[in-house]
Amino acid sequence: MALSSSLHIPYLPTISSNYSPSPSNLNITAPKTLRAAVIGGGPAGACAAEALSSGGVETFLFERNVAGSKPCGGAIPLCMLDEFSIPRAIVDREVTRMRIFSPSNLSIDFGKTLLPSEFIAMTRREILDSFLRARAESSGARLISGLVTHIDLPAHVDSGGPYVIHYNVEGCKKNVKVDVVIGADGAHSKVARCIGAGNYEYALAFQERIKLPDDEMEYYKDLAEMYVGDDVSPDFYGWVFPKCDHVAVGTGTVKSKSDLKKFQHGIRARAGSKIRGGKVFKVEAHPIPEHPRPIRVRGRVALVGDAAGYVTKCSGEGIYFAAKSGRICGQAVVAASEGGTQMIKEEDLKREYLRKWDGEYKNMFRFLDLLQNVFYGSNANREALVELCADEYVQRMTFESYLYKKMAKGNPWEDTKMLMNTIGSLIKCNIV
Ligand SMILES: Cc1cc2nc3c(=O)[nH]c(=O)nc-3n(C[C@H](O)[C@H](O)[C@H](O)COP(=O)(O)OP(=O)(O)OC[C@H]3O[C@@H](n4cnc5c(N)ncnc54)[C@H](O)[C@@H]3O)c2cc1C
Repeated sequence: MALSSSLHIPYLPTISSNYSPSPSNLNITAPKTLRAAVIGGGPAGACAAEALSSGGVETFLFERNVAGSKPCGGAIPLCMLDEFSIPRAIVDREVTRMRIFSPSNLSIDFGKTLLPSEFIAMTRREILDSFLRARAESSGARLISGLVTHIDLPAHVDSGGPYVIHYNVEGCKKNVKVDVVIGADGAHSKVARCIGAGNYEYALAFQERIKLPDDEMEYYKDLAEMYVGDDVSPDFYGWVFPKCDHVAVGTGTVKSKSDLKKFQHGIRARAGSKIRGGKVFKVEAHPIPEHPRPIRVRGRVALVGDAAGYVTKCSGEGIYFAAKSGRICGQAVVAASEGGTQMIKEEDLKREYLRKWDGEYKNMFRFLDLLQNVFYGSNANREALVELCADEYVQRMTFESYLYKKMAKGNPWEDTKMLMNTIGSLIKCNIV
């Protein structure tokens, strides 16, 4: 009897990279636990590792910089606190007002429709990431504080040959053989390069962390700011996000990366006296993916988070999607391997991970792409956007979609009114 492609192969210890299980030897070797390497210990990697290890897979989580912090605004939606059981102690600030400034400095406050229990959570990545990694460790993952340098792919991936992960720990070169690899190593993903996953367009973001005197910090107690206009970015927005005792001030661009410093001056000028008394203590820059990579699964390797390209275009939001994709992918491996007792295949990852992910988020990402194109195109479009944001219905729909990561259910009469207001704003700003 030939093995059908849908038949799961019980996990067998690696004998050689050419090892090919057959019905006669399936029964003679006692099943052993499936091994997975997760490369990258940001939200995507930590959540993937937690799902894998708590589901019975032997898991190695690699992070090259456990003491560091990813350059990031650190804003996360409310639903992430519940879904990922993140304690309030991890949250620096509970933002209930998002003030948006148009190119002509018209400002409106987003947040009128929030319930008393609703807010945007502002976190520091060094705190959030350490917390998520510690939880992965306590569920059984082995955290390796080292840099993955390269990966040897199996000669015959279908036969169950191992992936060899080469890494450096404190100057020593080491390696480990695993059956599954999850690439959670961010926008510069080595894993993506290794499997020939292709490239994506990206925005380059720049951010300064500025310590403000206490009385100036008081202004940002529960307030975050967003600035739009050609002076702060031709295709993104500038932000001032409050943290425990400082603000993160930054901007990004896809089209005009060499002008990033000029845009940073633009956002500083716009924020003006509110941050002038501050002291810059950290300057950071990093790419933000614009769309998913052409390939996200190859063989028994899957990409998640920024490595896969899961950041919404309009807002540059990626923390929640990183954590969620890591968890879905980890759970997919657990399900396909029946708790780490069976070898898995590329089809399993495509079915259990990619199909679930795309089913849940593809349309949301497409919708936000569309919004970006309509509203960020020119200063006139941005003026119309800010004007439209004053509408309470628009605020409610936007906040609900952001906070709970579900396309909010509308009301047909209010939707029609919103459409008319949109057209009105576009006409007023000479766009149509
Ligand atoms: C300036 C800026 C501001 C942002 N603001 C926000 C925001 O406010 N809210 C939001 O939701 N999103 C924001 N984003 C996007 C968000 O930061 C990312 O989407 C998110 O960090 C993706 O998480 P990740 O786990 O996929 O990757 P990352 O957070 O990039 O984590 C990858 C990890 O892999 C490690 N690593 C990489 N290579 C190796 C290797 N070879 N060996 C071992 N370890 C390795 C890295 O050290 C890193 O810890 C912002 C991005 C930028 C650049």
